[in-house]
Amino acid sequence: MGFKPGQLIIHRNVHRGRIAWVRPARVVADDDRGLLVWVARGTPVAGEVAADGRGLRSMPFAEWIEQGPYRLAPGTWAGPPVLKFLPVGASHSVWWFRDDEGRFVNWYVNLEEPGVRWDDGGAAGIDIVDQDLDIVVRPDLSWEWKDEGEFAERLAHPDHYWVPDEAAVWAEGWRVVKQIEAGEFPFDGTWVDFTPDPAWDPPPVLPPGWDRPPAV
Ligand code: MG
Repeated sequence: MGFKPGQLIIHRNVHRGRIAWVRPARVVADDDRGLLVWVARGTPVAGEVAADGRGLRSMPFAEWIEQGPYRLAPGTWAGPPVLKFLPVGASHSVWWFRDDEGRFVNWYVNLEEPGVRWDDGGAAGIDIVDQDLDIVVRPDLSWEWKDEGEFAERLAHPDHYWVPDEAAVWAEGWRVVKQIEAGEFPFDGTWVDFTPDPAWDPPPVLPPGWDRPPAV
């Protein structure tokens, strides 16, 4: 199932049959390297919150698992736009963060289950399961783990967490670290000066079908 350049798809993070976040994104390219998408500033998004309106990251996981029923709160991608690359079959994606002037700031490696695509005719998208551990990579290729504490905290609750194999996540992270340290694609400067098509306005509202059941 290939996406077309310029197509607006619905990129989602899902876990345990629920939607955790929704980010409509524009397809830049979809080829044998992977899927490259652009999330524009001002894009309508949604994120999972507990009954009291707080998100997963604003409380300990032990508290979160007691806080259902969960719902999706609407929001806006207010920060600088982000380019995301989902390599074919990989258990991670790479994000290019920018500043307000559009200059490249750093890469962000998001460890996640390989994306599962869906196409309902009117709406199409890709669902991942975020595995929480991340790597921040500076332009000089120095790097550091991010959120390893959160990852460990959640792993202590296997009946409620969505990552079954801690070792596999770390192994994927270390594989990417080798690429980083070698300055290999995509950490070789590719797309650091990417410019989106000026016609790619964000959608005014979440596209119909954004909340269809998770594909994973
Ligand atoms: Mg993450």
